[in-house]
Amino acid sequence: MSSAPNISLPKPTITPISQPFWDNLKQKKLSLQVCQSCDKWIFYPRHHCPYCFGTSLVWREASGKAKIKSWSVVQRAGHPAWQERTPYVVGVVALEEGPSMLTHLWVDQKDLAYQKEVEISYEEINQHVLPFFKPRSIE
Ligand SMILES: [Zn+2]
Repeated sequence: MSSAPNISLPKPTITPISQPFWDNLKQKKLSLQVCQSCDKWIFYPRHHCPYCFGTSLVWREASGKAKIKSWSVVQRAGHPAWQERTPYVVGVVALEEGPSMLTHLWVDQKDLAYQKEVEISYEEINQHVLPFFKPRSIE
């Protein structure tokens, strides 16, 4: 598939807590928080661990590998800037480290499948790098 269009999309909402996530994406690194108390990986970024309520969270680079859990084909975009790309696919992927992530899937509709292996694709749109997922390349 081709890369994302250069159109005026709403910017991601970046907070002090999520700032490292977005900074690392610019370096083409997917990073997630890890709880130093219970060692679980956490996404989305937050102040407390949702498992043990610990506050000692650190950022660690993730593999960028995931499997598709569910998806939906968008026929009518939620924002006008995306309308020219319809139909496109959004879905939830299970990251190899455990957490799930809502994302765009650069996967042909005929190839969509539960548990299909995908990997991160860093898409730069309007000076922001967004984490999309594409079929995993064969190594
Ligand atoms: Zn914890």
